[in-house]
Amino acid sequence: MDLFDIAWNMRQSQQINAVRSDASEAQRQVRDSNVRVAELEAAVAKLQLIAQALWEIQQERGGIEEQALIDKVNEIDLRDGRLDGKLSGAKVRTCSGCNRPVNSRHLRCIYCGAENPEADVFRSKG
Ligand SMILES: [Zn+2]
Repeated sequence: MDLFDIAWNMRQSQQINAVRSDASEAQRQVRDSNVRVAELEAAVAKLQLIAQALWEIQQERGGIEEQALIDKVNEIDLRDGRLDGKLSGAKVRTCSGCNRPVNSRHLRCIYCGAENPEADVFRSKG
């Protein structure tokens, strides 16, 4: 094996390692995305359940006109100045346990597990 072959083999080996590293990173990103999709699906399912419960309680207590609900949804939607089908963004505060940012959707800090006293009952998840 001459010097050229050795250099060639080293270069090939480096490229193979780079491709393996890229593949590992891509796999990690796919796993993270799958976790986030599962979290979103769980959050949507919980919100649907809460909305249905509130609607049924309201109907049992005499009901409200569907148009009144639609009007209220639009009024709340517009509170952040945009009619975009969303509540304004979740609040972020600093965790008392580890000083990292904690989203109001989380009942506990995702880093240290400290309870989040500002967790939003409609958005929160374990
Ligand atoms: Zn924390």
